[in-house]
Amino acid sequence: MTKDPSAHTPIANSSRGQISRRDFLGASAILAAGLAAGGCKTSHEPSKEPIIDIHQHLGYSDRPDDVFLEHQRKMGITKTILLPAGRSVQTGSTHEGFSNGLQAKCLGNADCYRFAKAHPKEYLFGGNEVPDLDDAVKEIEKYLKLGGVIIAEQKFGVDCDSTEMQKIYQLAAHYHVPILMHWQYMMYNYGFDRFYKMLEKYPKTIFIGHAQTFWANIDKKNVDDDVKLYPGGKVTPGGITDRYLSDYPNMFGDLSAGSGLNALTRDEDHARDFLHRHQDKLIYGSDCNDLVGTVPGCQGAKTIATVRRLAPNKVVERKLLYANAKRVFRI
Ligand SMILES: [Zn+2]
Ligand SMILES: [Zn+2]
Repeated sequence: MTKDPSAHTPIANSSRGQISRRDFLGASAILAAGLAAGGCKTSHEPSKEPIIDIHQHLGYSDRPDDVFLEHQRKMGITKTILLPAGRSVQTGSTHEGFSNGLQAKCLGNADCYRFAKAHPKEYLFGGNEVPDLDDAVKEIEKYLKLGGVIIAEQKFGVDCDSTEMQKIYQLAAHYHVPILMHWQYMMYNYGFDRFYKMLEKYPKTIFIGHAQTFWANIDKKNVDDDVKLYPGGKVTPGGITDRYLSDYPNMFGDLSAGSGLNALTRDEDHARDFLHRHQDKLIYGSDCNDLVGTVPGCQGAKTIATVRRLAPNKVVERKLLYANAKRVFRI
């Protein structure tokens, strides 16, 4: 199983929309044309259907830009959203610098902005900052004003209901952009079990959940564990994540990383039902740092293949890989 590249032993203890008919018919027509042109080819060429990847990073584990561009093309991604790191600082919220660069050498706002501007057809960018710095809101807002489409990746050691985070939730609502949070027990964004209070307090903020603790909690029987971050085996529906997705219109899920893939593959019967039930709330992202972009070496490519295999039908598959992102990000 592929692990999230950033997973590690914790070091701190602090505290609807529908797919449009046009989109669907368009995708079907493209598919039909591809089949007609290619006969019964079952090659490994990237699909011609558009795919939006809402979760990638620049400079990820030192991956060179040209390799990254090729990686995304090989996966068949037509639009990628770059999630910047916050600035590098030595604070409790970055575990004294350990978590700088999103704990994976990822680059920040200015680099993501420049790269997206250099590749405007295929790349978009977000704005981010360490949330408890004095000018965090100002710095994030600067990049939202420049056209940033998300606040992310929020991966810091802070309480999910801290004053600082609440200011950022308000900023997200004001600019009509989602905020994507990396939930990792005892490490990043503390307090997943009480997060419903924020979902209720900020109904106009679109929250996208990601990472180990978000995905472990699809299972009602999950007990959060800071070491066993990738639980396996059968899933009992009704975990916290399942309930948040069902009960709150402003809660969404990002399928990216080893944690998202594990959540689908650990119990495929459950996954089929889960994808069906949350077909308007789950969004494809890759968040992989490999150099290849193809199965079997690339977890992002594996997640695409897994979604295609487990989605109950073509319409749902297209929602997960494309239409939900298009709607939520208004792109
Ligand atoms: Zn990430
Ligand atoms: Zn990959």
